[in-house]
Amino acid sequence: MVLVEGVYTYTPASMALVVHKYGGTSVADAARIRNVASRIVEVHKGGDGVVAVVSAMGRRTDELLALAQDVSDRSHPRELDMLLTAGERVTMALVAMAIEDLGVPATSFTGSQAGILTTGRHGQAEILEIRAGRVRDGLDQGKVVIIAGFQGVDPNSRDVTTLGRGGSDATAVALAAALGADRCEIFTDVDGVYTADPRVVASATKLDEVTYEEMLELASAGAGVLMPRSVEFGRRFTIPIHVRSSFHKGEGTWVKEETMEEAVVRGIAQNSDESKVTVYQVPDTPGVAASLFEPLAAAGVNVDMIVQNVSHDGTTDISFTVPSVSIATARDIARGVAASVEAGGVSIDESIAKVSVVGIGMKTESGIAARMFRLLSDQGINIQMISTSPIRISCVIAGDRVDEAVRTLHSGLGLDGEDPQ
Ligand code: ADP
Ligand code: ASP
Ligand code: MG
Repeated sequence: MVLVEGVYTYTPASMALVVHKYGGTSVADAARIRNVASRIVEVHKGGDGVVAVVSAMGRRTDELLALAQDVSDRSHPRELDMLLTAGERVTMALVAMAIEDLGVPATSFTGSQAGILTTGRHGQAEILEIRAGRVRDGLDQGKVVIIAGFQGVDPNSRDVTTLGRGGSDATAVALAAALGADRCEIFTDVDGVYTADPRVVASATKLDEVTYEEMLELASAGAGVLMPRSVEFGRRFTIPIHVRSSFHKGEGTWVKEETMEEAVVRGIAQNSDESKVTVYQVPDTPGVAASLFEPLAAAGVNVDMIVQNVSHDGTTDISFTVPSVSIATARDIARGVAASVEAGGVSIDESIAKVSVVGIGMKTESGIAARMFRLLSDQGINIQMISTSPIRISCVIAGDRVDEAVRTLHSGLGLDGEDPQ
């Protein structure tokens, strides 16, 4: 994203400019919308400028997706984006009405009206630039500005686009960067970022702070509380992100450059939305991997882990994981390549899951991988694939064991507060 218009300084200079974001559960019904409005009004009355990004109400996006499937089983990327953006548009207007009822002027804008320019990739568009003139004008007039999350416009086709699931987080942090806001507050249905998904691990604890780097790894590994791209924007433009509850006033989790404490293991994430493809008995010659991964890349399939086994008799097996939504494309490409290089065949496993352990202290402390593998093996959980980054270790395991794996690792790695060592 380019900040073409430079950094905007909200006036009067002594006051802060904050971007709020309210997720689906936080605006699920009329009472919650009025609650959100009163939170926003309170900040506005305190003298700060507020821009609020809102998501579709409750599970509206899922309902619209299901409705589209009921009407047509073909893919209609442009029309699907037209449909989905309507969800956020409903919320923005209702929140603006509720704010006006509290005696504060408010204006709502769609992503396009707010100047959010994106690539043209429907369903997965990326924010390129924000021309925030109308948003600034609204703030200068003393209004609260409400913006529909998760959407923008492709300046070439002038069609509306969506940013991918969870995209309102990206809208909020990108706007905070474009407006030079002091911080971005993500209001959600949990009290902050936890050491694991609190719906899975009852003993998970809320983190007071987490680095951008760790949060990016956690989010990319499946911790759905923040969309990974929002963390990327936060890191790139150094926007402090505060993840907190929309239901009470308590402090949440600050996502920032550095934290007071360097955790060896900060948290555990899980992802059950990937599938595994294995191409058997591939000739072990130069260029074969390229011939498989080039067409996958060209088709926009986002390959995550790749494992190539040791060669026997001049052939090898190559396994890789892809998002389950791309499995049909990946399977067709893999089958085509397998036939052309005379490989043994292709198998698909849609019932895998990935469990990841993340912590900045792993850069210096060795041994976490060994502990992780031992804990999984003591539980009789087989590791199918492994991948690492300097601050993350991920294992692919059977999908039906993933909650158990997360709980085992959470307690075995000391996150329950009872370090076994
Ligand atoms: P919103 O609609 O507000 O954007 P999401 O459903 O996208 O909310 O994200 C919040 C959810 O993320 C929580 O309800 C929780 O189940 C899930 N989650 C997954 N991992 C974590 C984690 N490490 N910490 C907190 N929440 C998590
Ligand atoms: N409503 C969209 C979704 O459900 C975007 C968002 O909530 O962030 O994915
Ligand atoms: Mg979300």
